[in-house]
Amino acid sequence: MKHELVLKSGTIVDGTGAPSFVCDLAIDDGVITAIGPNLAGEREFDASGAIVAPGWIDVHTHFDGQATWDDELDPSFSNGVTTLVMGNCGVGFAPCPPGGQDVLVDLMEGVEDIPGTALHEGVPWGEWSTFPEYLDFLAARSYTMDIAAQVPHAALRFAVMGERGLANDDATDADIAQMRQLVAEATQAGAVGFTTSRTIFHRSISGVPVPGTYATREELSELVQGMADGGGGVFEAITSESIGNMRIYGGERFSEDEELALLSDISKATGQPVTFTTLQHGDAPDAWRAALAFAREMNETGAHLYPQVASRPAGFLSGLAGYHPFSRRRTYLEIADLPVHERAAAMRDPEIRAAILSDSDVEVEQAGSMENLYKLLRSAIGRSFPLDDIVDYEPSPEQSFAALAAERGVTLEEAMYDFLAAGDGTNIAALPGVGYVKGDMEDLREMLVDPGTIVGLGDAGAHVKLICDGSVPTTQLTHWVRDRTRGERIPLEFMVHKQTLRNAQLYGFADRGELAVGKRADVNVIDFENLNVHRPVAHADLPAGGLRYLQPVEGYVATFVGGVQTRANDTDTGERPGRLLRSHATSSAAQR
Ligand SMILES: [Zn+2]
Repeated sequence: MKHELVLKSGTIVDGTGAPSFVCDLAIDDGVITAIGPNLAGEREFDASGAIVAPGWIDVHTHFDGQATWDDELDPSFSNGVTTLVMGNCGVGFAPCPPGGQDVLVDLMEGVEDIPGTALHEGVPWGEWSTFPEYLDFLAARSYTMDIAAQVPHAALRFAVMGERGLANDDATDADIAQMRQLVAEATQAGAVGFTTSRTIFHRSISGVPVPGTYATREELSELVQGMADGGGGVFEAITSESIGNMRIYGGERFSEDEELALLSDISKATGQPVTFTTLQHGDAPDAWRAALAFAREMNETGAHLYPQVASRPAGFLSGLAGYHPFSRRRTYLEIADLPVHERAAAMRDPEIRAAILSDSDVEVEQAGSMENLYKLLRSAIGRSFPLDDIVDYEPSPEQSFAALAAERGVTLEEAMYDFLAAGDGTNIAALPGVGYVKGDMEDLREMLVDPGTIVGLGDAGAHVKLICDGSVPTTQLTHWVRDRTRGERIPLEFMVHKQTLRNAQLYGFADRGELAVGKRADVNVIDFENLNVHRPVAHADLPAGGLRYLQPVEGYVATFVGGVQTRANDTDTGERPGRLLRSHATSSAAQR
C-alpha cells in the first residue's frame, strides 16, 4: 500500500526527548500513519541528511490583531511554528464593546509596541464584541498554521467595568461575577487560557498601568475559576517584580514572593495550570532560582506551576528604522522623515553629526510610548553590541560598544552614532537586558534545561521595532544545540521536546507536538547545518505602512501543517491549512 506522502530517510527527532533515529515517516489525510523503514508513497520527499521534527508550538505570541488581517503570520511562519497561542500578558481585542477599540489599541500599543495606526486600520473593528464572536471571526479565516486564543484580563475588565476598569479600581462583587461568567463562556467557546499582567512596566500608550495590574486575589482566583467552569485552560501571568522592581515608575506594588504564593494558591484552589514570566533581571539576578524552586515545591503539594522562561536575552534593538539613542535629538528630528539611506548619509555630514551629538532631546508626548526608550538605549550603549549578519546572541565583552569605543578612542555616543550612520543606515545594535545580567547565557541555560519550566516569551507579533524575538524557536536550535561556544550546549532531542510536546501538553493539544502514528502531521524538515537567523531587516508592510523588523531565516527545507506543505526551501507555498484551534477540540481530532 502506498501512502499519500512519505518523508524519506530523515533524522527523526520525535518531540518526546527520545534519541533521534533515521527512518521514513508516512502521512495520509493530514495524520502521521507510519514511521518505519522502506515506506512507499505516491509522493516521496527526500529528507536524508535533514532533521524531521514536529512543528514548533509557540505559546507566547501577540498576533491578536495581525490574525484578523494577515494569514501568513510572520515572523512565526518563517521560523517553523505550526501552532501559536496568542492573547498573552492580559492584552488583546476581545471582548470589545462597541466603540471600545481606541482603548484596546492604546493598551496594545503601549504594552506590546504594535503601531496603533496599523491596528486601527488593519483590524476590522465591529465584526465582534464578545470573545466567542471573536473566535468565530477567526474560525472563518485560514492561515499558514493553527492559532489558539486566550482571554485577556485587560479587555475583559474594560468590557465589564468601563472607566473604573481602566482606572484600576477594585472590582465589585457584581463585576467579578460577571467577568467570571464571561471567562467561562469564552473558555467553553474555545479559548485556551486566561491571561493577566501585574507589572507596572506594562502601561497604555498614555502611561497608565493596564487594567488588572492591581487586581485582588479574589478577582483573579474567581476569573481563573471561571476558566475552570468553562472546561479548563491555562492561566498565564506576568507578575509584579518579574522584570524588576520598576523604581523608575514608582516601584512595583507586590513582591515576587507574594506574587508566587498568590499564583500557587490560585492553582491549588482551581486545579488550573499557571504559567508565569520568569526572567533574570538586574534588580535581583538570582530571583529566578527561587521561583523555580518554589514551583517545584508547590507542585509537590498540588499546584501546577510552569515557570515560563526565555531562550535568549531580550535585546532592545537600536537602528535607524526603529528606535535608537539619538531618535529624539532636536537636529535628528529635522531629518527623521528622510528614507533611511538618505538619513544615514545626512548623519555623516560633520556639522549635522556635531549638532546631533551635542543638542538636547525633544520629550515624547505619550508617556507610555516605547519612543521613550531612547534614554535607556543611550544610557546603556556601553553594554550594547553590533549585530553581525548572522546574529550571535551570546557576544563577549570585547564585542561591546564599550570595547569598540575604547579601541577607537571615541565616546560611547560617538561609537554608536557612527555605527548607525554608516553605509545605507541598516546597521542594528542590540542591548541584551533581561537574561544577560551576568554577560553570558549560562543562567538562561539552567532555566531552559530545568524540567519544570516551559519555553516561551518570544512575543512574536509584538515589539515589532524593538525586540524581534519571533525567531527564538530557530535560535533554540542554532545557538543552543549547534553554535554555542561560551559554555555547555543543549542536546537536540531535549530542545525539540521543549518547544513541541512540552508546550502541547501544557495547553492540552493532545493531537500534536510529537511524531507518532495517529498524531497530526505538523512537521518541520530542517537542514540543520545551514539553519541560520540573520539580523533584523525593516519592512514597511503592516497596515497603514507600519514598520516592523523581520529576521531572514534559512534552513527550513519544508514545513507541513496537517500534512499540507506550507513552506518549501524557506518560501511560502501559498497553502493555508491552518485554522483556529479551539480548546478541547484536539483529542477528538487525533482520532480522525
Ligand atoms: Zn507577552
